[in-house]
Amino acid sequence: MSTVTIPRRSGTRYQAWRSFAACKGADPALFFPAEDAGRNATRAAKAICADCPVRVPCLRQAVDDGERWGVWGGLAERERRGVKPSGLRTCASGRHLMTPDNIYVYPGNGAKACRACRTERDASRVRDYSKEAAA
Ligand code: SF4
Ligand SMILES: [Zn+2]
Repeated sequence: MSTVTIPRRSGTRYQAWRSFAACKGADPALFFPAEDAGRNATRAAKAICADCPVRVPCLRQAVDDGERWGVWGGLAERERRGVKPSGLRTCASGRHLMTPDNIYVYPGNGAKACRACRTERDASRVRDYSKEAAA
C-alpha cells in the first residue's frame, strides 16, 4: 500500500484527469442530492465512482479544496470529513483508494485486501475459464 502522490493541481494536469471522469454526462443530481434525500441517495453516484479511473485525483481535489457538497471520489461530504490529503492511500496496484468500502477483510485471518483488485482478478479468471471451455 502506498500514499497517493498526485501533485497538487496546476494548469493542464488539473484539467487532464477530468476528461477521464466516469461521471461525464451523468445526471448531476445523482452526485448532489438534496440534503434531506436520505442515505441511499448517493448510492448510484458511488457506483459510478467505484469504476472511475480518476477516483484518486478527484478525491484528492475535493479534500484539498474542502469541498462541502456532493459525492467526490466515491465519498459523500460526511465521509470525507476525516480524510486528510496525507492519509489518502491506494492499494498495491496504485489504482484504487483504500477507502472503507474498498477494504476486503479475509474471514480467516483478518488480513486486509483491495476489494476492487479482487473483483478484477475474479473477472479475469472467469474469462480464462470461458476461453478454455470454448477451446
Ligand atoms: S470519482 Fe466519481 S465524482 Fe470523481 S470524477 Fe470519477 S465518477 Fe466523477
Ligand atoms: Zn486495488
